Amino acid sequence: MKVMKFGGTSVGKPERMHHIAGLVTKESEPVIVVLSALSGTTNALVEIGDFIARGDRNGARQAIDKLEAHYQSFIKELVKKEATLAKAKAIIAEHFEFLNIILKISFSEALSKDILAQGELLSTKLFCTYLEEMGIDHMLLPALEFMSIDNYDEPQIGSIKVKLTQILQQNKEKKLFVTQGYICRNARGEVDNLKRGGSDYSASLIAAAAIGASVCEIWTDIDGMHNNDPRVVKKTVPVEQMCFAEAAELAYFGAKILHPASIWPAQTYKIPVRLLNTMQPEAKGTLITEEAGSVGVKAVAAKDNIIAIRIKSSRMLLAYGFLRKIFEVFEKYRTPIDMITTSEVAVSLTIDSEANLKDILKELEPFGTVEVDRDQVIISVVGNEIAQTEDIIKKLFGSIVNIPVRMVSYGGSPHNISLLIAAANKKQILQQLNKGMFGLE
Ligand code: ADP
Ligand code: ASP
Ligand code: MG
Repeated sequence: MKVMKFGGTSVGKPERMHHIAGLVTKESEPVIVVLSALSGTTNALVEIGDFIARGDRNGARQAIDKLEAHYQSFIKELVKKEATLAKAKAIIAEHFEFLNIILKISFSEALSKDILAQGELLSTKLFCTYLEEMGIDHMLLPALEFMSIDNYDEPQIGSIKVKLTQILQQNKEKKLFVTQGYICRNARGEVDNLKRGGSDYSASLIAAAAIGASVCEIWTDIDGMHNNDPRVVKKTVPVEQMCFAEAAELAYFGAKILHPASIWPAQTYKIPVRLLNTMQPEAKGTLITEEAGSVGVKAVAAKDNIIAIRIKSSRMLLAYGFLRKIFEVFEKYRTPIDMITTSEVAVSLTIDSEANLKDILKELEPFGTVEVDRDQVIISVVGNEIAQTEDIIKKLFGSIVNIPVRMVSYGGSPHNISLLIAAANKKQILQQLNKGMFGLE
């Protein structure tokens, strides 16, 4: 059995849905298709939720109407037969009626998650309507019946596996299953999600933790993991192969092609991941397995919105236990630290969330002078055994001209060297690294 996940742009147009129906029915082994919402939908749903949260019901109604009009024209191209068109209309009516009812209810966090779930519910149901029109046998697996997270927003692997296996056992004769990415239930049984871009995570959880698939294919709008961020740098090239650790570093440090958490299930259960281009299915893409394929630098990525905190204290001098006390503050506020560097009298570290910053700073104050720098970016140079690669540091710093570096992290992992720089220099450094490390301009 294999998993094939298609992202927003891959399902964003009726002809693309037709095209992916062709891709998923070519397979000889049974397939679980995981779909995102149509491109633009989740952003629109976020906007609708924001309008409702602000009490701007008019704004929300207008945004709902605009989104509904988009779906009405989408289905006219998606299906042609009267019966299936009627079904597609009924699906749209059901979900937009729900959104319109929500307008009358007072806003809550749980309600906003319900709103966000509509995108994947719509895309999967509409895709199934098209499969029906084409006479393609399939089954819709409601993700809300098996995908769940615990009180700490962590997936409940055991329960997901048991529930999904049971459903698949009961439908052994089926060869094609369709399910929603992104959405799940939380510990309170409410509708929730795996955070933005979370359909990749759903796919990996299903492929690896739940069914032990032969491969987890992530179909998107680009031919694999590129050596640099194609949104920022003009000339980038796909990387043919990398190991799980390299892919995890890139995903975590800003390569948007993968959700930051989407690699660990595949890595834990040793399921190969393939990144493929829906618009160019014959392209090789990127294969991610336990094997790195080659040694050396493979790619760079940038993680935005980083906050750097420096704690200076003469009491650190020759003291032990100082770092533990600092780490305990971040642990208390469940705030992960991305980078850390120390000197004899100061420690600098970075976090990516403003959420608990005020409380964290208050608790750090007794330890010394605390300085905060916002608008920072982590630039990660990722590859296999890069720390041992000859002249890597020379090449890295030789590539960067006139860009001040606030922090450097080297040797923490054999796959990553990270630099902290000001956000204003991000584009320039990515371009310079493209030239200096990859010979691309
Ligand atoms: P999907 O909707 O299919 O999940 P995403 O937009 O989430 O697609 O991810 C694909 C996008 O990731 C690409 O279009 C590209 O702009 C962006 N991206 C950022 N960094 C990289 C990278 N290193 N390699 C490939 N794509 C990247
Ligand atoms: N639709 C969700 C989002 O836009 C999940 C995903 O596409 O992976 O974030
Ligand atoms: Mg994505």
